Amino acid sequence: MIPAGDGDETPASPSRWPGGTLHALREENIRRVLEVISTEGGLSQAEVARRTGLSRATVSNLVAELRRRGLVRGDVAGLGGRGSLEIAIATSGAVVGVDFGHSHVRVGVADLGGQVLADEEHRLPLDFGAREGCAEAKAMMIRLLERAGVPAADVRQVGVGLPYPIDKISGRLGGQPNPHPWTELDPSAVLEGVFGLPVVIDNDCNLGALGELRQGAGRGFTDVIYFHVDERAGAGVVLDGRLHRGVAGTAGEIGHMTVDPHGQTCTCGNRGCLDLAVGATNFLDPLRGGYGLQLDIADVVRLAEHGDMRCHRALTEAGCAMGMVIADLCNLLSPQRVIVAGPIFGAREMILRPLRETVMHRAVPAAARAVEIVRSQLDGSAEMVGAIWLALDAIRQRATRSAPAPAAPHVGVRHIEASMSLRAGRTRTTAALS
Ligand SMILES: [Zn+2]
Repeated sequence: MIPAGDGDETPASPSRWPGGTLHALREENIRRVLEVISTEGGLSQAEVARRTGLSRATVSNLVAELRRRGLVRGDVAGLGGRGSLEIAIATSGAVVGVDFGHSHVRVGVADLGGQVLADEEHRLPLDFGAREGCAEAKAMMIRLLERAGVPAADVRQVGVGLPYPIDKISGRLGGQPNPHPWTELDPSAVLEGVFGLPVVIDNDCNLGALGELRQGAGRGFTDVIYFHVDERAGAGVVLDGRLHRGVAGTAGEIGHMTVDPHGQTCTCGNRGCLDLAVGATNFLDPLRGGYGLQLDIADVVRLAEHGDMRCHRALTEAGCAMGMVIADLCNLLSPQRVIVAGPIFGAREMILRPLRETVMHRAVPAAARAVEIVRSQLDGSAEMVGAIWLALDAIRQRATRSAPAPAAPHVGVRHIEASMSLRAGRTRTTAALS
């Protein structure tokens, strides 16, 4: 298994590399150039230089190297400084992103630029078994590859999101108060066996945050919380451009934050957890007595829109409960954006208004004023898109690691960029620095 990517956006400044080697800085700059090309696409060499803060000569050199590794396309000969040609991520090859939720699996096939070629979602029984979920995901992948016209041999990596915290060291799923379908399993080994491909895994809400950061409402932001509510509540936290997983991998486990100290007992043993107030089954159960067992979130939203006060009040209370937790997150982290996602946000202002009012009322005023609370732009597919980007990052990490480190002595940080630029300038007509 390949370790999960960071989804980070570290600037290419040499100041972040005290004591770093030329090779390390060069690989970081390659990663930075790749990230700019893949998130903005179709840029000229001059534009890539402007966005990365690197010199044009250095960018030209790095692009040549990336082209040699098969990661980007573009006519390197024409990129010698005028920058009139476009550089783009190579598209020969594909990745698969899989999002396992508590009661669904969504699978997508994408090219190496992150463009989704085909995707679909299937509902499954609540807390379905690992074997059942894997079989479904594999069958969906085969169908989607066929639909997208992608040969199975072109798939280079699979990214998978799972709805549990992932222990950084063991790779096992942990942090849950109760056993779950993956409890006794090594998820990476199981998934690699099922797909017959390299697999990289992460928590589903971390991937939701990564998806929004790369292709959704988080683009251009560095401090973002992805706040997802479906059967349970969870969050993905991005700080200073990096996913924050925490030492136990449990960062963002907001479902067990207390919103009512005197409330009902939760499965975790505490009282009044957020999951009890807004998790789909817990939210719906009190209403189903009056509206029937088939009532779902969309029905509640529809009824509230047509003036049903009981449903309207239930949505208002859910918005207030979420607002309490988001206010605490604002006090702790002061994010630029909180991106809310999940079926309940189909209620739009009916739930966002009480949520925002609670944040304004409870959070430190400056943090409350600074944060924007917006709906997801990826509408149900953020986790799958994040899984695709996790897979793409894994391919790129592997590619950048595959180049042997040159036998260069340690170089003073201040001289590294100048040294690279000089070498790049002298070797403009050759293939690559290394
Ligand atoms: Zn709990």
